[in-house]
Amino acid sequence: MFGVSGLDAAAEFTFLGLYALQHRGQESAGIVSFDERGAAHIRKGMGLVAEAIKADDIFELPGRVAIGHARYSTAGESELRNAQPALVDYRDGTLALAHNGNLTNAAVLRAKLVQEGAIFQSTMDSEVIVHLIARSQQPHPDQQVLEALAQIEGAFSLAILVNDTIYAARDARGFRPLVLGRKGPGIVIASETCAFDLIEADYVRDIEPGEVLKIRDGQIEELPRLVPEAPAACVFELVYFARPDSRIWGCTVDAARRAFGRRLALEHPAEGDVVCSVPDSSNSAALGYSEQSGIPFELALIRNHYIGRTFIQPVQADRDFKVRVKYNVVREVIDGKRVVIVDDSLVRGTTSRGLVSMIRDAGAKEIHFRISSPPIRHPCFYGIDMPTKEELLASRLSVDEIRQHLGVDSVGYLSLEGMIGAVETYGPFCDACFTGNYPAPLTDLEKGLLTAATCR
Ligand code: AMP
Repeated sequence: MFGVSGLDAAAEFTFLGLYALQHRGQESAGIVSFDERGAAHIRKGMGLVAEAIKADDIFELPGRVAIGHARYSTAGESELRNAQPALVDYRDGTLALAHNGNLTNAAVLRAKLVQEGAIFQSTMDSEVIVHLIARSQQPHPDQQVLEALAQIEGAFSLAILVNDTIYAARDARGFRPLVLGRKGPGIVIASETCAFDLIEADYVRDIEPGEVLKIRDGQIEELPRLVPEAPAACVFELVYFARPDSRIWGCTVDAARRAFGRRLALEHPAEGDVVCSVPDSSNSAALGYSEQSGIPFELALIRNHYIGRTFIQPVQADRDFKVRVKYNVVREVIDGKRVVIVDDSLVRGTTSRGLVSMIRDAGAKEIHFRISSPPIRHPCFYGIDMPTKEELLASRLSVDEIRQHLGVDSVGYLSLEGMIGAVETYGPFCDACFTGNYPAPLTDLEKGLLTAATCR
């Protein structure tokens, strides 16, 4: 998610910002701009940012204010009508919305709105926010936005564009990141700081949990904050989701991952000849493991970065094929060696199982699997796409069963204390996927309104 206010060619900067944030969502992308004559413009499409928005489209998005979004679905199917930003006309002009996170009472709100006659155009949780703003009886967009935000629960970092004004907001627990920056006379907001680096904007500060900023023509006004809650920053952003060159929760993601890797080496040492990562997400953690253990880091797995949304023919649909399309081994690095492979997380376990068989075939003498986070036993309802509990490997199998399932000589997970201890000063964190302690109410789930299909 990205936004610009008070800069010429706002859409161009937004495009570049989304490009840097591509890792946060690859299903669809979109940009809405608002020009000086009072008209909103939109371009959105399926796929990667550069597929969804063509270079020429940028010229069709005039104005000094724009917001953009790259989508990764956690609620609603992957299809064009669910691409963000959502854009509508309403009583006070045009309204566009980009949402990072996942609401936990969207189904309840939606059912009520539908009952009242609302017509939904998508299956996204985020669309309820658009309806709540548009249906508010408050006289001014400031109050309409605040009234809507007071009704939603769960995880939300939002960029809401009402005519020429961006409202940037984070939920009271601050599950998902949102940072504020400056570029010349303009203000920029982004999910991660790596987007600022690309457009040479200066990072100013994190938008705080519960904060609502009104940004217009490069000026910022603070609106009343949401009702405070105990902060719960997503620790999985540090483990896997964010880019290592970003600063999240006040620390550089690379530094956090190296610290996880060092702790992992202390907790689960291994007799190995080489340490290798599963690129790119576990590179930093594997380097940390190597630094602590003194075992040399080697590039044993090579990732193909160009596969996109590969069409897998049924004949190739065996379990390991998807993994082989994405990774290959450097035989000479592995042959005859005791290999310590460090991954950042195990979800279903399919990737790791495929990798292990490739590493075995390449002649590894022993394989020691190390994971730089604790076992994931609980689904995330706050914006990380985790499968149902039944599909999560660690909720079905013990660590020793996982060792057998993967076919390795040993398995070691970083402990919860080790992970949190490594980044303690940047918390407090949400660790629900590891512990099952959910900080925000799970209203839809409790009311039986979430199914495996709606909760992605
Ligand atoms: P799996 O094959 O399901 O065990 O996938 C685990 C790998 O996918 C890990 O090595 C992570 O790098 C990555 N990963 C972790 N969480 C997610 C997620 N929510 N969505 C997609 N990939 C993930």
